Amino acid sequence: MFSPFTLRYARLPAHFFARFDPVPVEAPHLIAFNRPLAEELGFDLAAFDERQATEWFSGNVVPPGAEPLAQAYAGHQFGNFVPSLGDGRAVLLGEVTDRHGRLRDVQLKGAGRTPFSRGGDGRAPLGPVLREYLVSEAMHALGVPTTRSLAAVASGERVFRRIPEPGGVLTRVADSHLRVGTFQYFAARGDIDALRTLADEAIARHYPHLDEEPPETRYLDLFEAVQQRQAALVARWMGVGFIHGVMNTDNTSVAGETIDYGPCAFMEAYDPRTVFSSIDERGRYAYGNQPGVVQWNLARFAEALLPLIDDDRQRGIERATRVLEACPGQYDAEWLAVMRAKLGLAREEEGDFELAESLLEALHAGGADFTLSFRQLADVAESAEARPALFELTERREPLEAWLERWQARLAREDADGAAIASRMRTVNPLYIPRNHRVEEALAAAYEGDFAPFETLREVLARPFEAQPGREVYTLPAAPSERVFRTFCGT
Ligand code: AMP
Ligand code: MG
Repeated sequence: MFSPFTLRYARLPAHFFARFDPVPVEAPHLIAFNRPLAEELGFDLAAFDERQATEWFSGNVVPPGAEPLAQAYAGHQFGNFVPSLGDGRAVLLGEVTDRHGRLRDVQLKGAGRTPFSRGGDGRAPLGPVLREYLVSEAMHALGVPTTRSLAAVASGERVFRRIPEPGGVLTRVADSHLRVGTFQYFAARGDIDALRTLADEAIARHYPHLDEEPPETRYLDLFEAVQQRQAALVARWMGVGFIHGVMNTDNTSVAGETIDYGPCAFMEAYDPRTVFSSIDERGRYAYGNQPGVVQWNLARFAEALLPLIDDDRQRGIERATRVLEACPGQYDAEWLAVMRAKLGLAREEEGDFELAESLLEALHAGGADFTLSFRQLADVAESAEARPALFELTERREPLEAWLERWQARLAREDADGAAIASRMRTVNPLYIPRNHRVEEALAAAYEGDFAPFETLREVLARPFEAQPGREVYTLPAAPSERVFRTFCGT
């Protein structure tokens, strides 16, 4: 049933990781298994055996051919450098080749204490496991690059956080687990050979078009390629109202995927200062700060790569700085592309950036729900009769009304009629996002042994752009009594 493992990371130098088998759990129970993803990974679903899957995805049995290991990495956490983090509760089983010929990491998260666990117990509570499952799969359905969730298992054990909670294990699938922090780990140790090996591995796996380049340019180009993907990624987050919550450099993927779903959340009423994470006291990772933070993280990546970029340190800094200075422009271009699509604009005009920004100002002024506002705009593009429903979302109608006039004039210069514009807008503006109160509700029920709300939410979020009759409540923002103000990383 399992696809053969490639063991690429396991064949890198021994100090890149610690060989480590998952620690068995007491009474594993398979809660979720992602069949479409399993299929994509080349699993033989006809041979699916639930008992065996439970053993593999709980870590109780190491699947044939896997050589589990915990990866070493460092990272800036909330701006402070920690030279040694590493997989404290995760093990990489190995890589598998998917049906598109792409290598994908398969990792168990919550697999027990590793040599990198420091004070932690190596475990994950079931809540955060199910949360990552729901939100990562929702992000995928929304078209945002992300790690995926293959399976969620309840361990049958208790983990102790603020209170005892049921434990869980998540099987995470990623393009790779190479992080900015992985580079920082070796840079901090002055281990240039390891740094080069790692950079070459990143090129081989994610940027093969750089493979033929000479050392004088390939590492700077690697930096630029990662920057491009990260700028595109964060622009996508902004377009769906996603707040990552812990944009530390150890959570910044070199492959450009969203990784590490901890206290992440979706914004409801538009406000760039929105923060949910209980540990983000100063709002460092607020919604509106994310584009600036990613650039800060990329600057740390450039620092780590400096010894490879140029033999002359000063010249290396100058060359890397020149690339980094292009980051805001790249981000703005990505963001503009996202916003044009959200606004139904296929043509490109000079004033589009400002048009998009002033809509956000109007939404902010009226406390309007970000997701629903864009979705309703599609209806307005189709028919002026939809305007009252849009205005119901805002507490201040005038700015939005004034903005609509400008937008309608702009739409008139598109080569499409209202219905065509509306239907393309509905392919990029979701109706369903993982609203925080719905996620919390599903997790609370799961803790009581009722997985039905989790299953329903999973189904709803798999088709975020299609109206699903009977599931209207999932489109709605939290009522005041349901509102979630804080999310916890649960580690
Ligand atoms: P995260 O907040 O999940 O990005 O984790 C940050 C660091 O803390 C990583 O090195 C993790 O492996 C480690 N960590 C998080 N939770 C645990 C835990 N329960 N036990 C051991 N290490 C952990
Ligand atoms: Mg992390």
